[in-house]
Amino acid sequence: MSDEQRPPLRRVTVRTRHVESEGGSCAVSVATCPRSDDPVALERCEGCVHTERIEQSRSGRAVAVHCRPPPPSRPELTRKPSLLGCAMEAVLQQTLVTEVMTTDVTCVEPSLGLERLTELFLTLRFSGAPVVTPEGRPVGMVSKTDLVREAYEAAIDPEEGTPRTVADVMSERPTCVQDTAHLGEVAALMALEGLHRVPVLGRDGRVCGIVSALDVARWVARQAGYVVPAGGPAEPPAPEELLAR
Ligand code: SF4
Repeated sequence: MSDEQRPPLRRVTVRTRHVESEGGSCAVSVATCPRSDDPVALERCEGCVHTERIEQSRSGRAVAVHCRPPPPSRPELTRKPSLLGCAMEAVLQQTLVTEVMTTDVTCVEPSLGLERLTELFLTLRFSGAPVVTPEGRPVGMVSKTDLVREAYEAAIDPEEGTPRTVADVMSERPTCVQDTAHLGEVAALMALEGLHRVPVLGRDGRVCGIVSALDVARWVARQAGYVVPAGGPAEPPAPEELLAR
């Protein structure tokens, strides 16, 4: 396999969790595995086929795992005959994601500081954002959950350096859909992969919108005849208004 075909080298920080109990104290070293997004014990990384080396501090303590995990395999979308009437199925297959998505999408760059990201989440009242290059091409997703996880890991191991930017906490390789995708297909993808929101890409590969589970729920409610305001319960302040503060 050539260097270009190999998965990128990842530096995964090792954090040490100190546990005090009646029987004494013990320390457990864990890394958040990029394959599963779950904490794994350092012993597991030592036996993992994707490990290249374990980085150690001067005192000999493991501080990071350097590994090349392959991208997670994504399950295939499969279809069975629909139990819905033909008319409803046709509506789902003919409704483009662009009719449901939010076009006023806030993206962030990997270098954005976490304090600013937190401020955006709180003031604009959203829970996740696409991470993009300066040209608008997606490189990751970042959510409130990522911030909570990092705050937790920093709390259990205050000696570790605190992450400072979006690049330190985001999930890489985001699942995106093209603006030509149909709503049924997008909903199936969100259900299959457990996604709360999916960036929508235009023909130039740049983010042109975002569709959330809430957008899909609003669309379904409208199809059922309910009156649902476009912006939800309350409109957030405009980005220009926020930046002027
Ligand atoms: S070495 Fe293996 S188990 Fe450890 S973080 Fe990397 S991919 Fe996950």
